[in-house]
This record gives sequence, C-alpha cells and structure tokens, in this order.
Amino acid sequence: MELSVIIPVFNEEAALPALRARLCPVLNTCTSDYEIIFSNDGSTDTTPSLIKAWAMEDKRVKMISLSRRFGKEAAMLAGLAASTGQGVVLMDADLQDPPELIAVFWEKFKAGFDNVYGVRKDRSSDSFLKRITAGVFYKLYNHLAETPIPYNAGDYRLLSRRAVNAVLALPERERFTKGLFAWVGYKAAAIPFTRENRTAGHTKWNYWKLWNFALGGFTASTTIPLKLWTYFGLCISAASFLFALWTAYKKIAFGNPVSGYTSLMVAILFFSGIQLITLGIIGEYLSRIFNEVKARPAYFIDEKINL
Ligand code: UDP
Ligand code: MG
Repeated sequence: MELSVIIPVFNEEAALPALRARLCPVLNTCTSDYEIIFSNDGSTDTTPSLIKAWAMEDKRVKMISLSRRFGKEAAMLAGLAASTGQGVVLMDADLQDPPELIAVFWEKFKAGFDNVYGVRKDRSSDSFLKRITAGVFYKLYNHLAETPIPYNAGDYRLLSRRAVNAVLALPERERFTKGLFAWVGYKAAAIPFTRENRTAGHTKWNYWKLWNFALGGFTASTTIPLKLWTYFGLCISAASFLFALWTAYKKIAFGNPVSGYTSLMVAILFFSGIQLITLGIIGEYLSRIFNEVKARPAYFIDEKINL
C-alpha cells in the first residue's frame, strides 16, 4: 500500500458527501494504490452506514469502529494502527483541512520527508479569545517541553511508515499526539495553508475541553510544573529567614508594638493559594499516572469493514 488516509469521525454525516467529492480526485493524482480509513469514534448518527455504503462500492474505503466514543486522539491511534500505507495522512472529516494539500504533502514525502505537516497561515477565522489562548499555549508549551511543537500546526499531516511506527511504539495512554509527532523526530517539513471553515455540522470542542487538552499536553510533555515549587519554596524560605532576622532586630531595637494584621492575612491567604495550586498540579500528574498504571487499552474495536 502506498498511501493511507486516516479520518477520525464522530457524527459527521453532514460532512461526508462533500468530503468524498473532494478527496478522491486528489488521491487519484497521487497514486491509485491508496486506502481511506475512517476511524468511527462512536458516532450516533448515520455516519457509519454512509461509510459502509461507500465501502461497498469501493474496497479502498475502510472503516474501523470503536466500541464507544473514545475521543479524537484514540480514534487517530486506532486508524494509525490499522493503516498499512508507506505514507499516512491524518485529516479531519469536516474539510477544514483542504484535501488538495495532500498532493503537496505527497510531493514532499516523495522528496524524503517523514513528517509533512500543514501550518495555518493565519488564524483570522478564529475568535479573538481562541487566538489569544492558542498563542499563550504554544509559547508556554515550547518553553517548557523537551521538544517544541510547530506554531499553528494541527494534526493534519503526512507521516512516513517509520514515523507512524515510532508513534505507535510509544505505549502511553494519555496521548498528546501533536507532541508525540514532534518527539519522535525525523525530517519534518511545514506546508502553509489556509484553514477553511467547517463545511457542515459543528465543532465538538469547547473551551473547557480545550483547557483540558492543553493541560494534558503539558503534563504529557514536561515535568517542570512539578519541579518549579522546589525553587519557589527555596526563595520563600530564604526571604522568610531574612524577614525573621529583621523582625528580631526590630523587636530588640524598638520593642514590639502589636500590628501587622494585614500582612499576616495577606501572607496566610497568599501561601494557602500557592499550596492549593501546587497540590492541584500534583493532582494533575497523579491522575495521569493513575491512568497509565491502570494500563487500559486506549480503545476497543467494535467492527472492521474492508480491513
Ligand atoms: N472527532 C472525533 N472524536 C471526537 C471529536 C471529534 O473523532 O470526540 C473528529 C471529528 O469528527 C472531526 C475531527 O475529529 O473529523 C475534528 O473535530 P472538530 O472539527 O470537531 O474539531 P475542530 O476542527 O473544531 O478542532
Ligand atoms: Mg473541524
């Protein structure tokens, strides 16, 4: 198999016809030896039956159905595991990732790149808040994480077989795929593109989910938030020691008029806050360690079509 295209889908019945019309012509210009693997992430609408009907007509269209909704990350993983292509494309079903770009990815792949990813030229189609939060996330992540991730790159990309195998060899269950692609290394190339608006249906993301996604990204890629507090604690201890010296000196020199309610309250509230934050951060890591230790599979497969 030369080319696999993996498309995670969750309730995308409205997007599928347009996807079909645009995707197939592009793939045919690359190679005829391709497969399209839909990773059905527990859709509850007619998505699976639409794909099945398509798969009956074309054996190159395949589907792997998960036993329930496990999330996009797990769905992509299932698709990667099922793929056999030398080049493997990951794309969304909603045509926000223009299929025409696959031809460009393919060229780059043929030129020897292992990880050809799309980078958004601008985020003008996003809301102001989304742009700001995304900017902060990338800045912070690339500051803290061992391997930086490219700005404004999503999951839309073409990976070589060895890059896919490397990603599959990582056993972790809490998967921040974007980080993993960068972590495995190999030769990467960025292709700028304009992300279109969703053709149909609506996004499954909201800010709470994005926040948790970002947290997952940090905790999966860096332990700095855990270690930070040691140094913070050291600084505070040093400052407290100096303050103690100063208070002792004041007492000896000037006696001890009772005052300082405000500073006391501020100190108590401030440090209680810091301690709770620290506990929260430890909790974030602990919950992830808990999930890794349970070692549950990332997904279960309900059925496979043409696979
Ligand atoms: N998706 C999925 N499982 C989910 C949520 C989304 O498989 O739990 C799929 C969805 O069908 C689409 C892709 O992931 O093909 C991207 O989702 P969406 O368009 O909602 O995300 P956005 O483009 O807004 O980031
Ligand atoms: Mg989308």
